[in-house]
Amino acid sequence: MRFRSRHIISLEKLESNFSKLKKICVNNKIIFMVKADAYGHGIVPIVRHSVEKLGITEFGCASLGEALLLREELYDLEFEIYVFSDVQIELRECVEIYLNRRIVPVLSNKEDLDFILSHREFDNFPLFIKFNTGMNRLGLDMSSINEVIQSIKRSGRKSVYHLMTHLSSSSMPIRTNKRNILQFENFDKVKQSFLDAGIEIEASSISNSGAIEQGAGLSETHVRPGIMMYGPSSLLPQYSDLSLWEGEIISRLETYVISIFDVTKGQPVGYGATPCPSNGRVAIIALGYGDGFSTRYLGASLSHGTILGKVVGRVNMDMAQVFFAENSLPSLNVGDTFTVWDHSTDRFSKFCQDVKIIPYEVFISLTKRVPKIYS
Ligand SMILES: *Cc1c(COP(=O)(O)O)cnc(C)c1O
Repeated sequence: MRFRSRHIISLEKLESNFSKLKKICVNNKIIFMVKADAYGHGIVPIVRHSVEKLGITEFGCASLGEALLLREELYDLEFEIYVFSDVQIELRECVEIYLNRRIVPVLSNKEDLDFILSHREFDNFPLFIKFNTGMNRLGLDMSSINEVIQSIKRSGRKSVYHLMTHLSSSSMPIRTNKRNILQFENFDKVKQSFLDAGIEIEASSISNSGAIEQGAGLSETHVRPGIMMYGPSSLLPQYSDLSLWEGEIISRLETYVISIFDVTKGQPVGYGATPCPSNGRVAIIALGYGDGFSTRYLGASLSHGTILGKVVGRVNMDMAQVFFAENSLPSLNVGDTFTVWDHSTDRFSKFCQDVKIIPYEVFISLTKRVPKIYS
């Protein structure tokens, strides 16, 4: 465990991002996506704060294990949890958990749907159904709509609790991209078929961050934001003009300088003896791939205040080298704090572009070795 390399998470920033989200989604209910440990921010504290202080009551996980963890750790709070992909509904012990712990699986295939419809113990269980409208990952097939509707009717049900689909290309223009247009049209068809068959749709959703940022899908009852709640925009950088999102990164990644020394052009540093690009100074920071500071971060710009540096040489398991050229040396000494990212979305997004890794993965890569501190 590190002491001075820390992922500091501001629950206040989460709250201000949520207020900004509410300004876009004035009339929508929220399913806050907290899969993968709340995108690396710590699922338990994030959900606790969201329930207690933000009044969010619905959360989306990827696996039943994540959902169960929330139920166990937050037994004192009232909220709904949906399991989106790794549902395991066919396992007997999982059936018990769904029934007894108030966890709802999102049904994405005919087998899972039929399982729920054919087992009497699920008679009063909410139906949360996902259709594949063109993403071709998970979801009931469009060609099976009538069959699905017939099965639901035969079971005696008159409504579905939540009908949803997921977009493949919401990081691209929602209103002009062909795939997005098609998926919205297809989702309308799915909903219409249910209504025509006399099945009530209690709730529906289509939009994740990329679509929400573009103000799309807001006529559904719900939206399902993930990444934007943690700060970053989900749009590809070239489409940033289309985004309404003005969130801030809710965390800072802080480390410190273990060592700092002058270097000359061509001087080898670290494993692989990578030559320095010019005269300057190298700071050794206490983050390496053992912390989730990936070897792919080689070459990324990192600044100290306004002074721009970059990661040189191979990233080590426990350390990384940050190089500053001689014409712009930072005032950094051994023991000083060094900030990899802060609340600035521009700085964070520049980092992600430099390393060609999406914000999602940068957050999630941080390992347990880097303590999470909540402020
Ligand atoms: C992860 C996920 C979301 C949230 O996506 P973001 O791009 O992080 O906003 C929404 N819906 C589903 C089905 C998801 O799997």
